[in-house]
Amino acid sequence: MQTKAIVLFSGGQDSTTCLFWALKHFDKVVTISFDYGQRHAIELIQAQKITQLLEIEHHIFSAPALKQIGVTALTSNQEISFSEKTQLPNTFVPARNLIFLSLAAGWGYLNHFHHIVTGVCQTDYSGYPDCRYSFIQSAEQTLQLALDAPSLKIHTPLMFLNKTQIWKIAQDLEALDFIIEHTHTCYKGERNLKHPWGYGCGKCPACELRKKGFEEAFGYV
Ligand code: ZN
Repeated sequence: MQTKAIVLFSGGQDSTTCLFWALKHFDKVVTISFDYGQRHAIELIQAQKITQLLEIEHHIFSAPALKQIGVTALTSNQEISFSEKTQLPNTFVPARNLIFLSLAAGWGYLNHFHHIVTGVCQTDYSGYPDCRYSFIQSAEQTLQLALDAPSLKIHTPLMFLNKTQIWKIAQDLEALDFIIEHTHTCYKGERNLKHPWGYGCGKCPACELRKKGFEEAFGYV
């Protein structure tokens, strides 16, 4: 039987690495991106461009309610900062991953896709609770029950990898040049400044993580 997977796709480094991983492991792959009023539409533009280049069926779901729940640094122009109270950066959009997974599972149910691939990773991230393995296991079980679909599976190929290892996986998947050139990570939406590790301001936390991982994987250039 043909295996079919949905990749939750932001157009960033991690989800693009997952896309290449999924293309290797499943017969048919589609991508879903979410438009939730994120501060830089560049992400969605890159997501569209990448899926066009790879000739992947791409869906953009609208999830504007994520902007209505309140102010975060990803859905407004608020400066990026760290909260001592929650021990989280204000780029955390509460409940986002649960909503994304639910919408993808709903589409998968109606279109006979049993596999969902997401680039969440609990290793060296900002401590987002909905990126943890325990949450993914729980969400998988919840969605299996919600849909009466015991075969539904959520795959997280990057879960226990750090950014250095994620760069190396990209190399193993022969996707390194593609990922450097086409993926977007920078919180500031910068795409004019080019570095050995790709485009970005080079200073925001997302750029710093991407740059550090690249330099640790391939040396300082
Ligand atoms: Zn940046």
